[in-house]
Amino acid sequence: MIKGTTQLLGVIGDPITHSLSPIIHNTAIRHLGLDYAYVPFRVGGEDLSTAVAGLAAIGVVGFNVTIPHKQAIMPLLRDISPFAEGIGAVNTVWRQKDGWSGTNTDVEGFLAPLIDFIPTDTWRQRRVLVLGCGGAARSVVVGCSQLGCSSLVVFGRNKSKLEAFYGSWLNSPLKNTLSQVLSIHPWQQLMNYLPTVDLIVNTTPIGMHPISDTSPLGEQEMDLIASHAVVYDLIYTPSPTKLLRQAQLRGLVIIDGQEMLIHQGAAAFKIWTRQSPPIEVMRMALKTTITPQPV
Ligand code: NAP
Repeated sequence: MIKGTTQLLGVIGDPITHSLSPIIHNTAIRHLGLDYAYVPFRVGGEDLSTAVAGLAAIGVVGFNVTIPHKQAIMPLLRDISPFAEGIGAVNTVWRQKDGWSGTNTDVEGFLAPLIDFIPTDTWRQRRVLVLGCGGAARSVVVGCSQLGCSSLVVFGRNKSKLEAFYGSWLNSPLKNTLSQVLSIHPWQQLMNYLPTVDLIVNTTPIGMHPISDTSPLGEQEMDLIASHAVVYDLIYTPSPTKLLRQAQLRGLVIIDGQEMLIHQGAAAFKIWTRQSPPIEVMRMALKTTITPQPV
């Protein structure tokens, strides 16, 4: 129940109506009997600084940041964790006495299900192929470099964006590690790399609701993937995506974006409430909201 004492949490983004974070967080809040409410706010790019100042003015405790603000919010914060500085994106913000602090929990979310599937001590021999070079790809690159992967090949459709992506790491604390393992490639070279990798991560929105019947990889490309490879799609609705259904039909191990969503949310919840997040309750809330797609 919302009372006079209820503290406000939320998520800002544009669009925002598809966000499942309110369901996950409000279920966790209710389960623990906490006096918080988590609200979605549609904030357009031109309104970002006004909105962030307004959220402070009305005493919001903390909020998540989603597309398209994860980078644009950074200059509006009083301090940013070195980890989020390294990634170059913030997804979790909390209020301090004299301003907002920000960090990034997407890497923790991305890694959580992977560690269940692949033992951490084997990562040094693993080669990873990343589709897309936007915001989420940054968390994937940082997560895979933390695991010590031997090669990270990133594919994009736009040459100048790919080059900017690569160049952005040259000034980051990860420069030395990434210069050894990271390379960028145009989409047309996919066929050459697909047979050689152990993990494929889709960070593009291809296949996301409402254009669910699309996949970043065609059938011919899918046939090239090694039988031991894991296919990970960051998209969480639909579940599974067409890409994951194609992989499932070939007997490959698949991971969808639901666990990433839950674990990045759980890490944020802990920062704001200082309570241990009820992960199983959050997972059930998500699973009952998303209708599984037939294979
Ligand atoms: P973004 O910053 O807009 O990046 C999207 C990337 O995909 C860009 O490199 C973009 O290339 C590329 N792309 C888009 N359409 C393409 C196409 N038709 N062909 C080839 N490349 C294409 O978005 P984001 O924040 O990284 O999010 C990407 C996806 O990850 C979304 O589906 C989002 O829901 C998901 N995600 C999930 C979680 C989770 O918790 N599970 C967390 C974060 C993100 P251009 O720049 O050339 O357009």
